[in-house]
Amino acid sequence: MDPSHSAQDVVRCALCRDAVALMYCNVCHMHLCDDCVAKHLSDKSQVHTVVSLTQYLSSLQFPKCSDHPDKQCKLYCENCDCLICLHCVTPEKHKHHDLFNLKEIYQNKQEVIRNDLEELEKLIYPKYQEAATNSPVKRADGSQHWQKLRSARKTRRSPPSGSRRHHSNTTGGNR
Ligand SMILES: [Zn+2]
Ligand SMILES: [Zn+2]
Ligand SMILES: [Zn+2]
Ligand SMILES: [Zn+2]
Repeated sequence: MDPSHSAQDVVRCALCRDAVALMYCNVCHMHLCDDCVAKHLSDKSQVHTVVSLTQYLSSLQFPKCSDHPDKQCKLYCENCDCLICLHCVTPEKHKHHDLFNLKEIYQNKQEVIRNDLEELEKLIYPKYQEAATNSPVKRADGSQHWQKLRSARKTRRSPPSGSRRHHSNTTGGNR
């Protein structure tokens, strides 16, 4: 009876081994946290295919049964610690064994991951709000009333150009 036990089922990031892994690389089969995805993608030696964990789980193909190669395993037998298909459950085999539906196991894990997300949001959200109030969105709105300076028309009363020249031909005085 340990309620905190289920929290240990959370898939942790394979790189930092600390954060909850919400992403999954289909190529490397690695669980990754959001922060480490970029780090992982920067490794150019592979063409990585990173999907969200939810996407990965929904597309999850369970392994084929060893006894029935054409059947997918759907159950996990805790007593035998193996994956089995529905055809394996016979009165001879896995009788009174503890069988778990694989999908349910993964769904439970998703539930745990989702709970962790909510916890994360609770932690992060106040910080977002803080940032919003600190941001200088509201400036002095009265400053809109700028008086536009009109280009002052200086009424130049300068006299019209074109100086008159007096050609005073003093042609006279010839004796
Ligand atoms: Zn990480
Ligand atoms: Zn990868
Ligand atoms: Zn089988
Ligand atoms: Zn069994």
